[in-house]
Amino acid sequence: RKSVVRITTGSQALDKLLGGGIETLCITEAFGEFRSGKTQLAHTLCVSAQLPIHMHGGNGKVAYIDTEGTFRPERIVPIAERFGMDANAVLDNIIYARAYTYEHQYNLLLGLAAKMAEEPFRLLIVDSVIALFRVDFSGRGELAERQQKLAQMLSRLTKIAEEFNVAVYITNQVIADPGGGMFITDLKKPAGGHVLAHAATIRLMLRKGKGEQRVCKIFDAPNLPEGEAVFQVTSGGIMD
Ligand code: ADP
Ligand code: MG
Repeated sequence: RKSVVRITTGSQALDKLLGGGIETLCITEAFGEFRSGKTQLAHTLCVSAQLPIHMHGGNGKVAYIDTEGTFRPERIVPIAERFGMDANAVLDNIIYARAYTYEHQYNLLLGLAAKMAEEPFRLLIVDSVIALFRVDFSGRGELAERQQKLAQMLSRLTKIAEEFNVAVYITNQVIADPGGGMFITDLKKPAGGHVLAHAATIRLMLRKGKGEQRVCKIFDAPNLPEGEAVFQVTSGGIMD
């Protein structure tokens, strides 16, 4: 049996909310509006996943699938320095790929699985998991097919998490929630419907606070204690 590894987010408050950090063997989803910190958390995890276990890291390589073109290798440098790691070595251990269609995204996962069988990975990031689906299946009447392909993708991610003991961190967008009621116009919910809700073990709802502050809440987990974590986005990554 593989044992769970918890990877620090860089914020003690957020780690505490998560029970120690983001976990291997399952999917952690972060959703929230533009600039809520989803991608900055991904950059921080790229570094912390490589920290030794005794520093709350994952001691492994990172795979990063980028569908929005927002990965910035130069952001990794100050984050690595903040954790006392060699930035070039950290960058060398991030396998990066840009995906342009949902099929491309899926095929990249197949290639990664082969790589993970040979080298010790601890984290797989897909930022964003849903953006290409929303582009490639934008027509009316395509929702059922989109959800079916999305389910396939997520099932592949779950398999990778379990087979290679990696943490899977995916980001998601928010959409308007018409169920919010006629007079509530700013209600938002994560995209992806029940397919994504079912696949993600932990769903993090991020929002902007004051200044560089961000607030994280665990979404829709009746078995976890209610609570919020407040953290900052800084040049050195996510911090308290
Ligand atoms: P999302 O992916 O949720 O759209 P991001 O993770 O890209 O959002 O967060 C963007 C925000 O992160 C910016 O608005 C800014 O406040 C903050 N940020 C990005 N880079 C830095 C940095 N080098 N120093 C401080 N804050 C930064
Ligand atoms: Mg982003």
